[in-house]
Amino acid sequence: MVREWVRPGLGIDLGTANTVVFHPRRGIVLNEPSVMVVRDNDERGQPVVVGREARDMMGRTPNGMSVVRPLQDGVITDLQAARAFVVAMMRRVPVQVWEKVRPHAVIGVPVGATTLERQALLEAASEAGLGRVELVPEPIAGALGAGLDPMERRAQMVVDVGGGTSEVTAFCFGGVLASRSCRVAGDEMTQALLNHLRAEHQLLVGELTAEEAKKTLAGAGDQIFVEGRDAATGRPRRQQIQPEELAEAMRAITDVIVQALAATLSEDLPPQAVADILSAGVVAFGGGSLLAGFSERLQAELGFPVRPAERPLTCVAEGAAACLAHPLLLRGFAGGQAA
Ligand code: ADP
Ligand code: MG
Repeated sequence: MVREWVRPGLGIDLGTANTVVFHPRRGIVLNEPSVMVVRDNDERGQPVVVGREARDMMGRTPNGMSVVRPLQDGVITDLQAARAFVVAMMRRVPVQVWEKVRPHAVIGVPVGATTLERQALLEAASEAGLGRVELVPEPIAGALGAGLDPMERRAQMVVDVGGGTSEVTAFCFGGVLASRSCRVAGDEMTQALLNHLRAEHQLLVGELTAEEAKKTLAGAGDQIFVEGRDAATGRPRRQQIQPEELAEAMRAITDVIVQALAATLSEDLPPQAVADILSAGVVAFGGGSLLAGFSERLQAELGFPVRPAERPLTCVAEGAAACLAHPLLLRGFAGGQAA
């Protein structure tokens, strides 16, 4: 067997919800929520804690501190906060992985990222100790990580349902053909579920509890139990709920994603590309695509195959790492800007 030559380096996915770092040989070396806790009076926005520990403080933050998600909505909103976050996060990557002093890295960026955001990201990466850094559009990295070949001549399409945004992207032969994004994804699903519990069952639950309930839907049998507080009495209560009822509560969100896919196909793409996509189908990834019955529902609505990626939460980082060995692909999609 010929051993594949792998350039050392890291593949990095800075998602709105989760940050994932993949090393070609060691696999996933970091996978933590994109969350940090900052002191309100600290103007430089230096994080007190980042990642999992910071997320555990959501809904229970002491006075004078706030939980922030510096990569909200898939783009870098507050440049300084994002820089501080990237630096703190990269420090958590285990030391033995930094085999070279400044490792080469490929970072996924949203297709619509501005020049300013790209620049901020590159500066943060350099400050964090990374060496040569290249950017690749997230959907292209995800496609590669899900087993597609973005250099194929036929048009292909992927849908990435993350925490803050869902993105539909069509591409072929090393170029982005069309891309649409909408601000409904996994977090909106959680919010819809939380609102439903309050409105229909008078049950108050925190965001973390609602998210847990959402995640258990896939493996749930006939019933699931949600613990919260009674809206009227304030007392703790355990509510039994039918999984279909919760699925129904999140239906409006999946409808928006279906519309984005349909609009990309009908309005943004030439007929030949549409024909390619209809016959090959669409690949879905991102944590939101793990929602029980998600791909099935998209497929039923759209009438063509929707295939879930095998590892929807990590395929962007995996694909970014795979780009290290694909200089042609990196050049083709250089900078990540849509054609
Ligand atoms: P991002 O790329 O924005 O960081 P991710 O791809 O990591 O986002 O997905 C995060 C979203 O996926 C969150 O809203 C989370 O609640 C959701 N999610 C993760 N696992 C599941 C699951 N098993 N079922 C439903 N939603 C899930
Ligand atoms: Mg993502």
